[in-house]
This record gives sequence, C-alpha cells and structure tokens, in this order.
Amino acid sequence: MSRWVTVANRLPFTLSPDGEQITTSTGGLVSALSGVHAAAEKIWIGCAPDHLTPENWKSVQAKIPGDSSWSYRPIFVDKALYDSYYNRTGNDVLWPLLHYQPELVSFDKSSWEDYKTVNEKFAEAIAQEAQDDDLIWIHDFHLFMVPKFLRKLRPKLKIGFFLHVPFPTSEVFRQLPVREQILDSLLECDLVGFHDYSYLQHFGSSLLRLLGVEPQFTSVTRDGRTTRFGVFPVSIDTEKFMRRARDPKIHALAQNIKEQGFLFLGVDRLDYIKGLDLKLKAFRTFLKKYPHVREQVSLLQIAVPTRGDVPVYCQLARDIAQLIGEINGEFSTPNWTPVRYIHASVSFDDLMALYRSADALLVTSKRDGMNLVALEYLASQTVEKPGVVLLSEFAGAASALSHTLPINPWDLEDSARKMLQALEMTREEKVFRLRMMQDFLREYTATDWAAAFIAELAKEMPAENLKGPARIEPNQDAVDLLCDRVLASKPERIALLLDYDGTLTPIRSRPEEAVMSQEERDAILELSRYPWIDLVIVSGRDSKFMASQFFGINAHLAAEHGAKVFSPGLRKWRRRVLRTRSTWYPAAEKIMSDYAARVPHSRVEKKQYSIAWHYRLAPQEFADFQARKLVEELEVGLSNLPVNVLRGKKVVELRAMEADKGVFARTFLEDASPNTFALALGDDSTDEDMFRAIKGRGISFKIGAGSSAADIAIHSQSLVIDFLRSLGRALDQRMQRFEPEMHVETRPTHSARFETASLD
Ligand code: UDP
Repeated sequence: MSRWVTVANRLPFTLSPDGEQITTSTGGLVSALSGVHAAAEKIWIGCAPDHLTPENWKSVQAKIPGDSSWSYRPIFVDKALYDSYYNRTGNDVLWPLLHYQPELVSFDKSSWEDYKTVNEKFAEAIAQEAQDDDLIWIHDFHLFMVPKFLRKLRPKLKIGFFLHVPFPTSEVFRQLPVREQILDSLLECDLVGFHDYSYLQHFGSSLLRLLGVEPQFTSVTRDGRTTRFGVFPVSIDTEKFMRRARDPKIHALAQNIKEQGFLFLGVDRLDYIKGLDLKLKAFRTFLKKYPHVREQVSLLQIAVPTRGDVPVYCQLARDIAQLIGEINGEFSTPNWTPVRYIHASVSFDDLMALYRSADALLVTSKRDGMNLVALEYLASQTVEKPGVVLLSEFAGAASALSHTLPINPWDLEDSARKMLQALEMTREEKVFRLRMMQDFLREYTATDWAAAFIAELAKEMPAENLKGPARIEPNQDAVDLLCDRVLASKPERIALLLDYDGTLTPIRSRPEEAVMSQEERDAILELSRYPWIDLVIVSGRDSKFMASQFFGINAHLAAEHGAKVFSPGLRKWRRRVLRTRSTWYPAAEKIMSDYAARVPHSRVEKKQYSIAWHYRLAPQEFADFQARKLVEELEVGLSNLPVNVLRGKKVVELRAMEADKGVFARTFLEDASPNTFALALGDDSTDEDMFRAIKGRGISFKIGAGSSAADIAIHSQSLVIDFLRSLGRALDQRMQRFEPEMHVETRPTHSARFETASLD
C-alpha cells in the first residue's frame, strides 16, 4: 500500500520551551487525514516547531502522543531564513496577492530567493524520505516551488498540491514578478486541487495567458506531462461538532452567555481579508435603517489576533476598535450595548458555546479560501434552536453551502436587509435550510475531502508522467552505457534524428542569427561520415535555410517539421504533403496578415507548408488576446481542411497535417532497413511527437529542463555537441565489429510514396 507523505509548512505539534511537553495540533488537516484509511502509513514533513532541535529530536520523537500511524520528519530552518521565507514572501507577498490585495504586496527579490531556498530544502527532505510508490501531498502557498525542485530530484513520484486559499483572477496574479515560476512549478504536479471551481478557472486562464499553455477542462499537457486539476472543497469533522453541540457541559456554558435579544456572532482572525470593517458598517446600517431592531439585536465579534507585530495588522486592529467605539457610542443605551468585542482567541468549549447560543453567524470576508467557521457553526446547530448563516459570496464556502443567506459584503444596504431577514425568519424556514446543509455536512466531511484528493492522486497517471526522462550527465560512463543499450539489439544501422534550434545550436532571440558555429558544423560532418549512420536533421525551419546550413553534409534534411525532405542519395528535395495547399494557404495568409497589421511588432512567417504568426515582441496582453481569437478563427474557418492549428510560445502556426515531426519520424523508420536503431534528440514540444514516434525503436533525448516523453534528459544544450561526438566515436569503434557489408555509404530511402507528389 502506498504511504502518504503530507508536506505542510509546520509539523503538527508544539513543544514547551524545555522540550518536555508536546501538544499535538487538532487542526483540520490532521483530523482529515487521520480519518482516511487507517491502514496506510502516514508521514508528515514540515518545519520543526520552536524548541525542537536536531539534538532533542530523538527523545521528542519517542514521546509524541496520538495516532501511531503517523511519523514525522522535521526540517530545521535557520530563524532568519524562516522569517524571510514565511513572512516576507509567504505572508507579505503571496497572501495579499492571492486575496486580491495587490496594493499590500511588497515583493523583494532576496526574500523570494530565501523562499526558494526553503522550498528546495523541503524537496530534498521529501526526496530523501519518499519511496517510489508514495503519494506526496503538498499543502498551500508557502510551498509553491516544492514541486519544481522535487520533480528534478525524483521524476517518477506522484505529486499532488492543494491550495488552501483562493487563486485570483489572472488580472491580479499577473502582477506577481515571479508569476511564471510559480505556474511552471505547479505544472510539475500530477494533481493540483482547489476549494472552488472559480479558483481552478483562474488558474487555467493564468496558464494560458502567462505560459501560453492551453488547459483542457480539468487538465493540461505540456511537454508530454499531464497535470490534472480538481475541485475539492475542504470540510470539517462534522461528527465532532454535532456531538459536542449536544454535550450538557456546552449547553451549560451557552446558558451563561448573556444574550441581549437576537445574537449575531462573528468569529474571524483579525485579518484584512475577513472584512470586519464591512461587517461593522453593515451592522451600523442595519441599526440605522431599521430603528425598531435596536435593543433587540446585538453583535458579538471574536477577533483572533494574528501577526500583531506587522504594521498593517496593527492599523487594522486600531480601525476596528475605533469603528466599534463609534457604533457603541452612537447607539448604546443604559440597558444595551450593540457590539461586544473580544480581541483574543477562545477555547474550543467557549467557541462551541458561542456557536450554540448565537442566532445567526455573520461572515463578511472580502476573500476567503473556504471559511470553516461557517461550516462549524452549521454543524453545531440543532433543530430545536436552529441558527442562520449570512455568508459572503467571496468565501469559498459559498459554493459548498446551498442554503445560507448570501451577501455581497460591500453592499451594506443589502447586508442590512439580510440581517433583518435572519431576524424575522420563521423557525420552519430555519429548520429547512439547516437540514439541507447539515445533510451535506454529514455526507461530506474533512475525511471525505482528504480521501477524494488522495484517491484522485492515486489514480493511474498517463504513462508518460510516471516514466519521465532519466537525467544523465553525458560523461564517458554514460556514453559507454548508452552504447551497450544501442548495440544490445545488434542494429545494422543507426538513424540519428536531430532537431536544429535548441538542440544542435543554442536558441537565439533572432532566428536568423542561429547559424551553425564551426565547431557544430565539424561535429555534424564527423558524424555524417560514419558509414553506419543515417543522419537526419528534423527542423521547423524552411528548406532554404536548411539547405544553406547543411550544404555539403551527407545528411537527410526534414524541413518544415517534415513537410519537405532532402535525401542525400537522391540529391533533391521532395514534398511529403500529398494534397495541394491552395485550399487553405491563401485564406490563412489573408487572415494572418490582417492580424499582423492589427498587432504592432507581430509578423507573418511564410513557409511552403506552414504559415505562422509570431508576436514575441508585441504588447503581450493585446497580442495574447488576439492570438486566442486567431486560433478560433482558423479552427472554425479551416475546419475541414488538411491542416493543424498549433499555439506555441508567442506563435500561432498553421501547418499541413503531414508537417509533423512524429509522422515524419515514423515514416522514415518504416522505410529504413528493419534493423535500424533510432536516436532522437530535441528540445521543444514539436520534438515530443518525434519522441513518441520512435518508442520501441530507439532512445529519445530531451535537451533542457522540464517534463518530456523522452527517455533521457540532458540538461543543457551546451553539452550536446561533445556528447554527440563521444557517442559517435564510441559507437563507431564497436559498430566496426559487425559485418563489413552492412556499411553502406548512402542508400536511396523513402519509397515511391512521395514521388508521385509534385511541388505546388
Ligand atoms: N478558531 C480557533 N480559535 C478561536 C476561534 C476560532 O482556533 O479562538 C478556529 C475555528 O474553529 C476554525 C479556524 O479557527 O476552525 C478558522 O478557520 P477559517 O477557515 O474560518 O479561517 P482562517 O483563520 O483559516 O482564515
């Protein structure tokens, strides 16, 4: 059975200063995970709590109370580094941004580097701990970069990530200077979960707009790796709240809470996202607009202190206290104080008693990932004394709870109206609403939430995800091992399929500058002279460019992703596109030229069997929008024609169907002698088609970082030339041992199937 590795910022226990007393956390995550499948072994990786040191860890470990199926792995992080990672980046940048408060964001590069350092430490700890079939579940925004680091260390692990806070609209998210890095990291996961469907949609549109990858409904595939998305609204330990609600001790405590008529309750951390200011203003509007309710209603607000040392939180505390003073000053009478305020946390029993005695709960969050208080309050109600929930539309809980009174907290008049509605609601209606929501909470608990996520993560992943390329350092040992693998099947010939840009030569910002260096040319020449090789350059470039680069070299050239091929044996270019392009090319050219005219600094690149609109240098927002429109227009306008529309990095391309490196590679190998072994090297998504096409017939190499369907990854283009040279030489020595008649200089390849086609 797979073990579950939970990865969260902190380990779920605290320690007294002498290290003697250990208190385990009763937080939602612990109880959620404890409830699922008792048989699975569970490991929790997180930062060590205060007073835990590498020295006392052994003795503490032996004394941690509670569920013995859990074991813990502390990560020790230096205090200053922790502060920078957790507070400076996590709480001062990511928290406000993800909660739509971009004006509170204060980004600084060095804290971001610290954030990454700590995330890397997490990844190393997981990599050390995890077995291959473990399920890794990473929690929340403090650990956004862990998937990226972890995937590099352990390409085959199943990695899940759950975001406990909102994912904002891409309009807000794109303000983050490191936005691409975060998205990029999350795409290294197998599963990414959110509380609410709207968060998932925002994430999807950020992927499209910022990375240019187009998600499907609940997944996205990039470079051969598929990441699935899901909506898993968190829940609570419903049974616990329902049971405690009927406990006589809680009942007695509830009796002691002096009620002043109808009691509205607020329970929030004192955080700007909770909208306490809006709650108080709405309550003031309620008292003003409906004077008859005065002395009949009151508001009791618990504000749990949080980050009290941070200026913006201190200011918030002052503002709230002042607002309460103003309201009480304006409306209090000798017998009645409209607002009671507790700026402290309360014990669980007191909280339960408050839930039991309050007639309504007021949640006015400006943004809130979920808001568990709303769920807890509902679970604590009974049909004998049913309470009402007024719930902000901007809390994730709003989509899970069907029968609350929804409020837009900025609409003070409407909130006041809803307060009156709660006050005047009949008992029957309250019971009806409560039953609907309690039925849901009974059926869907925190345990169900965790089980649903784990089950989804455990599902069979696309084969490519599980495999992932094995990264190698292309030194002599690696070359020797590769030789063994290549020669194991005693091949007669070796087809070496090489992509051009990003593989043979580095990527340059201006494509016309990417001409081969002398060193690269020499290496290619050397390879081309081996008698056992079929050297094939497979590129998106046009035939003219390729002919100019490879003039005089004994190589097959596949231009425009294989739409046109040059065979050294025949010494001429032939097209592989069987149908005339006149049905689609002129129309596409017209549409793309219109876009090029409309979008400054964009241009149309015309090749024989493909046409592309590039917008790398254009104003991004506008051009991305136009790119989406163009894709739509081409897909609709040319739907029955033999073309594919592709959206790449800052380019929309329309290609003849046959212009596909995968189709080309497959055909090349079909026509090659049966005992040909293929080696394919490439760096981008068009090469992935080629990698898939040679599966079972050779070895594929992804150049650069990122996931891929390739077998092996070489992390930098700068290593490719030396690697090819060494591999060529090593293979040549050992290929010599095969029969000499197998060394054919050049041979006619690629049967008559193309020769019937004439150029347009
Ligand atoms: N809570 C608490 N101490 C208190 C008041 C509340 O521990 O004095 C708990 C409450 O029971 C709930 C959690 O704090 O489980 C608040 O969760 P919520 O999702 O509502 O808001 P968050 O604080 O996570 O933003």
